Amino acid sequence: MNAPLPAEVLKQHLIDPEICIRCNTCEETCPIDAITHDANNYVVDPEICNGCMACVPPCPTGAIDNWRLVARAEAHSVHDQLGWEELPPEQAPPEATGAEAAVAAPGAPQLAAAPGAAVPPWSAAHPYVNLYTHKTPMTATVVGNYRVTGADTDSDIHHIVLDFGELPFPVLEGQSIGVLPPGLDAQGRPHHARQYSLASPRDGERAGYNNLSLTVKRVTEDHAGAAAHGVCSNYLCDLVKNDKVQVIGPFGHTFLMPNHPKANLIMICTGTGSAPMRAMTERCRRRIESGDNGKLMLFFGARTERELPYFGPLMKLPPDFIDINLALSREAGQPKRYVQDLIRDRAAKVLELLADRNTCIYVCGLKGMETGVLDALRDVTVQSGQDWSILHDALRREGRLHFETY
Ligand code: NAP
Repeated sequence: MNAPLPAEVLKQHLIDPEICIRCNTCEETCPIDAITHDANNYVVDPEICNGCMACVPPCPTGAIDNWRLVARAEAHSVHDQLGWEELPPEQAPPEATGAEAAVAAPGAPQLAAAPGAAVPPWSAAHPYVNLYTHKTPMTATVVGNYRVTGADTDSDIHHIVLDFGELPFPVLEGQSIGVLPPGLDAQGRPHHARQYSLASPRDGERAGYNNLSLTVKRVTEDHAGAAAHGVCSNYLCDLVKNDKVQVIGPFGHTFLMPNHPKANLIMICTGTGSAPMRAMTERCRRRIESGDNGKLMLFFGARTERELPYFGPLMKLPPDFIDINLALSREAGQPKRYVQDLIRDRAAKVLELLADRNTCIYVCGLKGMETGVLDALRDVTVQSGQDWSILHDALRREGRLHFETY
């Protein structure tokens, strides 16, 4: 049994700056705003953190799960943590106690009402994470770089294929990797890794090859529309065949596809959020002959057809394999449509799939779609006389509803 810590000892919650990929998941998840960040690090405020653990399961790398016993009066301050390049070494406990696992939590533990599950689907394959880190990155070789949006549009989205040669880089659909852009940041430090979801299935972009693909949009403006140069996206989009890229990862242990036969997938995405959906769809496409697939339903949002990545190959998929619903928001002569509008339009089919416990839902893309998609799922459920809060809880508990939004 865990003995309580003496009041003057704190089991301090810390984030490992060497593993953290600065994805913001922890800051978003923390129910009491104990996590903050600057251009260098994500850190936990010891004055606020109550050790509730809500941020721990969603972290794709495990960087969040670090703890040090310190004298409460000497807790590492936010200011100190922001300057760290690595965690301080473990020290002997400040008081001789057997309290290795108790969390000094002044408040009662509380769980954040995260929109999605903190566990993978029960049948998901076991993922490998953090095989390669900032200190020990893997060198990949570019074997392909193709634009997958219309050349006449502002959306310059690239499909980039990286090969690992003889070295192991095992991945699953839904996982992501980190890319280390060369050069230094404004503070003269090496750039942090930027995270990208895999667009290829576990057996490679080219089946049987040790490679993977990414979907990368060239960033030329910020969210407010002001000119901005995306350090890593421009680096990646400009790569040519045989260039070398420093890669870390893989990351992610929950946004994974079910492995059991006849599992259904509802995939909801915008823009480059289509990367994991392409990976999962391709995994299923390669096993069409086996008869293992359940039903696949895709809701995909983009401004226009020409700005929708992979439009051509997507349209070639057989309709009896995947039910494709395109939400175009700026197509000339057509009303503005978002993915959540189409979920409501297709309520009957969505309900049929939701009624099946073999159905998993994946949402990836713009942060703004999160609320819209949850509202749409709630509306179709309520219209059918069901209680959304009960279904939503079950979907989260059973690892059947997953979000990856930025
Ligand atoms: P985008 O082109 O800006 O938007 C795609 C579509 O979503 C547009 O039709 C847009 O409509 C619509 N949209 C805007 N607000 C929405 C809302 N509240 N609800 C539903 N739809 C909405 O997309 P993008 O630039 O490709 O961005 C995709 C996002 O995915 C980025 O935030 C990226 O970080 C993230 N992501 C990328 C990866 C990756 O591996 N590359 C992985 C995971 C997530 P209007 O603009 O016309 O209103």
